[in-house]
Amino acid sequence: MPTLAATATPETTLLGLLIAAFMIATLCYGLGCWIWPFGACRRCKGTGKRRSPFGRAFGLCRRCHGDGRRLRIGRRIINGLRELHDKGTR
Ligand SMILES: [Zn+2]
Repeated sequence: MPTLAATATPETTLLGLLIAAFMIATLCYGLGCWIWPFGACRRCKGTGKRRSPFGRAFGLCRRCHGDGRRLRIGRRIINGLRELHDKGTR
């Protein structure tokens, strides 16, 4: 059946393109997480301070412990994979 073969080709190329685009996006995100592992803490917006409603008093942000940064999800995955790899090689 020649018609079936003709319709199957464009669909597979489209799927291949989608998969390639997805892989490139994942790779770029992974690279970004590798170069810039930290994001600003969402609770304190990167300041690391928990502001008091009165005066100038402030305490350390409980979520980031005053760092003002949080590890990005992608970097957490990279760290997890690395840990897994280290365990495997030992
Ligand atoms: Zn914080």
